Amino acid sequence: MQRSSFTQTLADLKERGVRLTPQRQMILKFLKETHEHPTAEEIYKQVCQEFSGISMATVYNTLHRLKELGAIKELSYGDMSSRYDGNDTEHAHVVCESCGEVVDIALPTLPMSTDETEALGYEVSSLRLEYYGLCAGCRNQVS
Ligand SMILES: [Zn+2]
Ligand SMILES: [Zn+2]
Repeated sequence: MQRSSFTQTLADLKERGVRLTPQRQMILKFLKETHEHPTAEEIYKQVCQEFSGISMATVYNTLHRLKELGAIKELSYGDMSSRYDGNDTEHAHVVCESCGEVVDIALPTLPMSTDETEALGYEVSSLRLEYYGLCAGCRNQVS
């Protein structure tokens, strides 16, 4: 499945009666067009270049709203800042334990629900799979 583009997502939201201010659209556009998984601070720095008046609170509110609408995903990493993902398809990640880079990879074929989750009475809605290690850049620095 292809990830939906900024234009597609915007049209889809409009159809659902959701209107986004130009500032909010800019945040969505940035996330849909990057293959990185930026933190809220990184998004703020980027969007600031277009809208110098934007506040960090607006960035957080927008990210929260876009996540609620299912347009983006939030990846939380315990104490570290959450990262935001514009790729709305089911996919897995490989995460660098040194620099924190997050890269999309294809999700291996896995059952969405197992006998075990069903036995617990769960209806499984999503799955998060991440591989951890060192990226090529960080490995070169170590050796
Ligand atoms: Zn790295
Ligand atoms: Zn991703």
